[in-house]
Amino acid sequence: MANSALDFSAFSPSALSAEQLHLIDTTVAQFGAPLLLLDCDIVREQYRTLANALPNVTLHFALKPLPHEAIVRTLLAEAASFDLATSGEVELVASQGVPSEKTIHTHPIKRDKDIRDALEYGCSVFVVDNLNELDKFTAYKEQVELLVRLSFRNADAIADLSKKFGCNRDMAIEIISKAQQLGIHIKGLSFHVGSQTSSPQKYVDAIIACKQVMEEVVDLGLPALSTLDIGGGFPVSYTKQVMPIDEFCVPINAALAQLPETVQILAEPGRFIVAPAMMSVSSVMGQAMREGKTWYYLDDGIYGSFSGQIFDEASYPIVAISNSNECYPSVLAGPTCDSIDVVAESIMLPKLNNGDLIVARMMGAYTSATATDFNFFKRAQTVVLNEPSLADRKLG
Ligand SMILES: *Cc1c(COP(=O)(O)O)cnc(C)c1O
Repeated sequence: MANSALDFSAFSPSALSAEQLHLIDTTVAQFGAPLLLLDCDIVREQYRTLANALPNVTLHFALKPLPHEAIVRTLLAEAASFDLATSGEVELVASQGVPSEKTIHTHPIKRDKDIRDALEYGCSVFVVDNLNELDKFTAYKEQVELLVRLSFRNADAIADLSKKFGCNRDMAIEIISKAQQLGIHIKGLSFHVGSQTSSPQKYVDAIIACKQVMEEVVDLGLPALSTLDIGGGFPVSYTKQVMPIDEFCVPINAALAQLPETVQILAEPGRFIVAPAMMSVSSVMGQAMREGKTWYYLDDGIYGSFSGQIFDEASYPIVAISNSNECYPSVLAGPTCDSIDVVAESIMLPKLNNGDLIVARMMGAYTSATATDFNFFKRAQTVVLNEPSLADRKLG
């Protein structure tokens, strides 16, 4: 593969290395296509990079964007903590031996069974954003510590999570006062500024607002809050460059430094940890000329690994593996019989043969997690690379 020239698609900022090409070749030879290649080395690197950029923050990896056991094992070896939202996620971390003290449960709306499942595992930190939810914890008040989630709307984020969850400051105070009456311990506040947030100012504003709520709590004679959870949302570069994470975190750290030193800071990064760690490899099943463009029908598409193009509004850097440099207007379509199953409408690609491979990068977050097997097209198999050995595992 060393002499293989790569075409740059319209979306593609950079080529694959010779090692990557070799790896793709050998893995497809072994497992067939479509595949998702998950590189635990990158998970580890992303975790360390964010941990360095946020030195006083305990990172709880949010499982939602890629709930894979190899990632749990990799991050456990890094002594990471975990952010859970469902009983399925509780089961996953429990099955990998994650100590329950390293977990928080952050779904603002839970059934009693969800609470019991988490408690049975040993997770005791939960999130509420309304009085109805607070009530659910009266039965467990001896065992739980709660975070009150505030809402800060963010029209710029890919997912404005504050539309669906979180309360305003007045309601936060009401919840905290009510909890005091009920004898339920409120540990602190949390927020999520929205996924793939491009500006650190959203965090800064939210941190300052939370600081004010914390002060108001003290002024009202309620027990002081000990924790602030700044959520997820940290951005990665897909086809557009975002601010480097070190730079992104400078104003966030400055805002956090204004909080009393006793306040423990948590974050719930998901996308940032896993997005760069997975690439998709699909192959051309067939092709047709339509209105002057070649349509290539892949064995993976919008209903599969590329589901994030719909659910996450993401566009991934895509390259074709080809020896040819001459490019033509092309379309990449998914395999299903549905017309919305189109991965790229106007992309310049070399002439491809059936069986040729298409590689999309930055496909770790919100891809396979939301894939379906619509039309009985099986989801892409995930191949895990560079898993940590058990000997490396750090449980501290
Ligand atoms: C989805 C989610 C996260 C992860 O968000 P990213 O934008 O992927 O970092 C963290 N916390 C909660 C509560 C979430 O719902």
